[in-house]
Amino acid sequence: MRWNLPADHLPEAWFNVAPHLPEPLQPPLHPATRQPVGPDDLAPLFPMALIGQEVSTDPWVDIPGEVLDVLRLWRPTPLVRAERLEQALGTPARIYYKDESVSPAGSHKPNTAVPQAFYNKQEGITRLATETGAGQWGSALSFASALYGLECKVYMVRASYDQKPYRRLLMEVWGGEVVPSPIDDPTHPGSLGAAISDAVRDAAGRDDSHYSLGSVLNHVLLHQTVIGLEAREQLTLAGEERPDIVIGSCGGGSNLGGIALPFVPDERVELLAVEPSSCPTLTAGHFDYDFGDVAGMTPLLPMYTLGHDFVPPSIHAGGLRYHGDSPIISSLVHSKRMQAVAYPQGKVFDAAVQFARTQGTVPAPETSHAIRAVIDTALAAKETGEEKVILFNYSGHGLLDLSAYDAYLRGQLDQF
Ligand SMILES: *Cc1c(COP(=O)(O)O)cnc(C)c1O
Repeated sequence: MRWNLPADHLPEAWFNVAPHLPEPLQPPLHPATRQPVGPDDLAPLFPMALIGQEVSTDPWVDIPGEVLDVLRLWRPTPLVRAERLEQALGTPARIYYKDESVSPAGSHKPNTAVPQAFYNKQEGITRLATETGAGQWGSALSFASALYGLECKVYMVRASYDQKPYRRLLMEVWGGEVVPSPIDDPTHPGSLGAAISDAVRDAAGRDDSHYSLGSVLNHVLLHQTVIGLEAREQLTLAGEERPDIVIGSCGGGSNLGGIALPFVPDERVELLAVEPSSCPTLTAGHFDYDFGDVAGMTPLLPMYTLGHDFVPPSIHAGGLRYHGDSPIISSLVHSKRMQAVAYPQGKVFDAAVQFARTQGTVPAPETSHAIRAVIDTALAAKETGEEKVILFNYSGHGLLDLSAYDAYLRGQLDQF
């Protein structure tokens, strides 16, 4: 029921989906001139290696040996068959999940934090500034920064800063410095878009510092493809030819991209993005150029967006509260290669608790969005009698989100 790969089966190159996209990616535009941005525009914020990966059209990008050495602390991650959940549902579907919760920070995010810290260190940068929603990305980057001896400053969305003291502490254990965002308005609950403005402003103003983003950008999704590459090999070990459907929760698109992108070239594999009804970027947003942040300082990205000034409600899946989406995921949805669905918070937590009571582990609220869609897909297969092979990304554990479970169990959770 569990397939592990030996340490030497960690992929040695990332999979670049760019040459396989049905619609070519539109370039990011400069916020002032609205002309395509060049490497010089991005150099104050990112190392050249990452700028190169952002625009690369090579089908594979080598993973540096020094990065592999760190990823081996927890990779390859297990592939698990959720047989007890299948039995509880009475479905003929076979459900597999890739367990990214086993990383030091408890989610998929260190897969990109480690190479980002590595490339910045290589270019002589000594300090990184970033934003974090629920604290998952901030803790991943604090962890990676500690391993490479970099300082790490984290602007944390205020609602989470107040609700989730343990993630802040985790960041501090790894040496990160955490402040609530927006820094100039203590009454505002904050949003990822506003925290990005704070972090970009910080990094642009200092020579020793770069900015680091945990999702959305092409190089981030590239780094996450180790997930799907490993899963493909593990599914073969499990005796499956291919998944019929690959499912992931979608905030900025990185855990979904990580598991789904290596399957894009195989048209027989359905791809499904799952988002919250209260921040329905892919299902109710429009496809257009928009800023990545609230203040309009970042380049304009071609993506599904709710508008850069959209402030989502304070749902517990803090990592899914983003007004936009990755250009790669947006392009896949726009070309209909990928489908998207949205669920309200109450139904998501029903699924989370059903998973915990059958499989044992307690999923992150973000991950639970994927689980809701997995359960509904498996129940639909029960209706049709189809032996559907479902693969999903178990993007993180919920052991630092127990206050959300508390609200659910006491009947105090907002259902929408
Ligand atoms: C951050 C996060 C997400 C959402 O971000 P993506 O970039 O869309 O993956 C999902 N699950 C977990 C556990 C996260 O920490």
